[in-house]
Amino acid sequence: MSSSRILVLNSGSSSVKYQLLDMRDSSRLAVGLVERIGEETSRLKHTPAGAEAREWTGPIADHEAALKAVSAELAKDGLGLDSPELAAIGHRVVHGGKHFTEPTVVDDTVLAEIERLIPVAPLHNPANLTGIRTAQALRPDLPQVAVFDTAFHTTMPESAARYAIDVQTADEHRIRRYGFHGTSHAYVSRATAQLLGRAPEDVNVIVLHLGNGASASAVRGGTCVDTSMGLTPLEGLVMGTRSGDMDPAVIFHLMRVGGMSADEIDTLLNKKSGLIGLCGDNDMREIRRRIDEGDEQAQLAFDIYIHRLKKYIGAYYAVLGRVDAIAFTAGVGENAAPVREAAVAGLEELGLAVDSELNAVRGDAPRLISPEHARVAVAVVPTDEELEIATQTYALVKGSQNLT
Ligand code: AMP
Repeated sequence: MSSSRILVLNSGSSSVKYQLLDMRDSSRLAVGLVERIGEETSRLKHTPAGAEAREWTGPIADHEAALKAVSAELAKDGLGLDSPELAAIGHRVVHGGKHFTEPTVVDDTVLAEIERLIPVAPLHNPANLTGIRTAQALRPDLPQVAVFDTAFHTTMPESAARYAIDVQTADEHRIRRYGFHGTSHAYVSRATAQLLGRAPEDVNVIVLHLGNGASASAVRGGTCVDTSMGLTPLEGLVMGTRSGDMDPAVIFHLMRVGGMSADEIDTLLNKKSGLIGLCGDNDMREIRRRIDEGDEQAQLAFDIYIHRLKKYIGAYYAVLGRVDAIAFTAGVGENAAPVREAAVAGLEELGLAVDSELNAVRGDAPRLISPEHARVAVAVVPTDEELEIATQTYALVKGSQNLT
């Protein structure tokens, strides 16, 4: 019996997103989501390939119950977790620190290391661990593979990864730039090279992952050399609800003068800042609609968002020296043509331009939006983190177990 299926799990504190893929052709057999775990109104939405979605609402107490419910839904389509065709379960793990540079088969040592990293990823790593432990309990015989958001960025040189603070203090508290969205940056930078018909090793790309969370990376010949998120996913671009870069002294000021606690400032900067803090909306569709109606607050929020984006494009242009392509991805990057147009407007001297007709075309496939013969390709490259996690997981278990 060939084992070619990979279940991808992305476990959050109160949600589990999942996809079951057949790696013979990278097709989706089912996708789904359990949300509001621990509440009375938990919701499971399950969509088998080529069939109607099934939804269910009711209490799902914890992650174990959630995964059992997912397994029951999959079983209805003959895809249950007990199937011998399941080769492994791939888990998204947000923080892998410096240690995890590759996808890794989970054992007790790996679990302990992910746990040790909780202080630098307090929101994410505990949920990721719960997901892994739950899956292990359900299928103890199956390889569980951790695919880290930080792994792609571990190639950054020290000059990019270190903050300019006292080295001893930094090392003691493991303070450095780790970067996130690495699975997406890896996938999109490779897919961009493919779109250009060139080998990843020959191509320098600036990847702009613009979703509700947003990050930029500079990728030289397939290797990440800089990225905008840092110790945590708070640094860098303006995001849906996160501030991105600002003077760190804002925090002391809010403590000393504003009388705010560390937790209050954490919530302010992570949940009530960025676009939502600037104009009350974090959805780019709503912001564009308000701008079209002449809303000045929405316009200012958009302008601040674009200004920051441009600064990163310029910075990473300088870091790379030669740029072959800029790739826009994730919810905003893939869908918001005005963001793409504004981000490169005025950068013609850098060889950057967008063809407005090509930019207006919508679609699911990777595509170029720069004018023909442009010095730098500008591309829209839809990200696929689940496929990347499944691909990395399958490659690892196939390599170690000779699965057919
Ligand atoms: P993500 O985190 O990648 O799922 O991206 C979610 C964000 O993408 C939303 O908050 C919106 O701001 C943005 N988005 C999604 N669809 C569109 C669209 N059609 N036009 C503009 N922005 C969009």
